[in-house]
Amino acid sequence: MSTPTPTPQTYEFQAEIKQLLDIVIHSLYTEKEIFVRELVSNASDALEKLRHLQLTEKEVFDDQATLEINLTTDDQAKTLTIQDFGLGMTREELIENLGTIAHSGSKAFLKALSEGGQKNASLIGQFGVGFYSAFMVAKSVKVYSHSWRAGEPAHVWSSDGSGSYVVEPAEDQRRGARIVIELKDDCADFSQEWKIKEILERYSAFVSFPINLNGKRINTVQALWLRSKSEIKDEEYTEFYKFQAHAFDEPRLRLHFSADAPLQINALLFVPKENVEKFGMARSEPAVSLYCRKVLIDAKPKDLLPEWLRFLKGVVDSADLPLNISRETMQDRALIEKLNKVITKRFIKFLSEEAKNRPEAYHEFYGQFGVYLKEGAALDFTHKDELVKLLRFESSLTEKGKTTSLTDYVSRIGAEQKEIYYLIGPNREAIESGPYLEAFKARNLEVLFCYEPVDEYVMNNVREFDSKKLTAADHSDVKLSDLPKPPDEGGLTADETKGLAEWLKATLGERVAEVKASDRLVDSPALALNADKFMSPHLRRMMKAMNKDGGDAPLRVNLEINPRHPLMKRLAASRTAAPDTAALVAAQVLDNALISAGLLEDPTTMVKRLYQLLEQV
Ligand code: ADP
Ligand code: MG
Repeated sequence: MSTPTPTPQTYEFQAEIKQLLDIVIHSLYTEKEIFVRELVSNASDALEKLRHLQLTEKEVFDDQATLEINLTTDDQAKTLTIQDFGLGMTREELIENLGTIAHSGSKAFLKALSEGGQKNASLIGQFGVGFYSAFMVAKSVKVYSHSWRAGEPAHVWSSDGSGSYVVEPAEDQRRGARIVIELKDDCADFSQEWKIKEILERYSAFVSFPINLNGKRINTVQALWLRSKSEIKDEEYTEFYKFQAHAFDEPRLRLHFSADAPLQINALLFVPKENVEKFGMARSEPAVSLYCRKVLIDAKPKDLLPEWLRFLKGVVDSADLPLNISRETMQDRALIEKLNKVITKRFIKFLSEEAKNRPEAYHEFYGQFGVYLKEGAALDFTHKDELVKLLRFESSLTEKGKTTSLTDYVSRIGAEQKEIYYLIGPNREAIESGPYLEAFKARNLEVLFCYEPVDEYVMNNVREFDSKKLTAADHSDVKLSDLPKPPDEGGLTADETKGLAEWLKATLGERVAEVKASDRLVDSPALALNADKFMSPHLRRMMKAMNKDGGDAPLRVNLEINPRHPLMKRLAASRTAAPDTAALVAAQVLDNALISAGLLEDPTTMVKRLYQLLEQV
């Protein structure tokens, strides 16, 4: 118990909060009314928390207070008051919760801004700034509060949002928080009953506590997810999503379903419009809340869904859960696991249906959230097989921007083909102009194109699909069938080729593991294949970027040469006729092959040599 501090004390806001307030007040929302939603949602959170405390605590201050939210407007004084009988805050909690940045949404918001997001309005729209949104409309905000702890005196926190706040004792307070907003002159509308009524009506149905406005009840407490789908309008779903997920966008996809076996479940799940992790945001926290018969059990349950579904928002309600569920006891854990299985399976099924019935919408969804499905395919052993079917890639047979599934790939290949080939590269152009694809094209073999940094990891972990091995097309182990011999237009003979290869190996020394004639090359003179089974070019680049062991090991590649290519014929002739120039050309051929493979690490030697060669013109 803290002793009351008799006199008002002034505190500075934490620097981040000042920054946040500055943005909120000066540049942020056009939709100022969202502050009502934020404060009502805080009141509702406080009531939920109190309801939980009441399950375990013997002594709760003002125990008879009804779990409800009261709003009062005063258009004379130009004020709006929001009161709840929730758990309230002690003096320390007022300072901690309202003076420092505890709120993860605000933190993420600031991070986004500091990374240049301020210009990106849609990005800003992804965040709620919670309590501080009140300062969009307020000249001053006063928070009167008495904690649920009986021994604690009540206090009032007040601020005009300009940099500091004051905390002082307050007599005769009920339990909970009473927030009095003195409105700015141009925001005086919010002290009109009709205005607040209109705002509350839009989402108050989703708040699971009674809301009264000037003494009149606004909402009938009902849970959207328990109602039947056919009665619910799209707008209601959207409003619910915005309210529940603190979102500003419209949901991209939604799944509303119920099940009776093996567990009684009502679930309402949303996929947001955009993937915020893509903007360099912190990893998303679980955001599908767990309810039991409309009572919130956990707003951010950790194990309710697999990690890779962390982009989902919404609600899962199961009547089979005990109210005071604990993640520690075996039985409760088993229940959560069961829920997890059922919901995940159902959601994957939903996605496959989307992919089939609304391929374009699925394609757009995949553009944003495909990376999570890849993560699941690579790491979630239970759902891997189903998830791999949901993956999509461009390929040598698709148009740019169009994708194929692995199922479709397999349906196109002959039974004798035991591999699914893929190539990793930064984009389509790079893969198509590289030397690796031509051998596959010449043999009519389809190759999947992978553009994302995680793809290699995913392909390595998934390993096979439908008994076909996923195989990197630029790997030296790949054996391709013989092509019908190209008409012999004076290519090098077998002996000449062998001689050239031996000379190249001797000339290039340690830089190559092996030099041999290629059966893949059609138009390019040479290509470099990875000699190291466990370190693909791509992986090597990543290790280097992360400064990990392995990135520094000397690079050794297998060089394959095209005996039909004019350059190789010239080189074979000049290695005796003009040995010095030939050695320069040999080194340059290797560097060119390394560039195509994305493996050339230091171009300075290469540039010098190129000048030497050019001088010989
Ligand atoms: P968030 O609700 O996401 O945590 P807010 O900025 O909305 O962030 O609120 C900050 C914190 O202030 C809350 O986490 C809570 O601890 C406290 N708070 C806000 N409003 C109330 C309230 N009505 N009753 C009790 N605590 C509150
Ligand atoms: Mg809040």
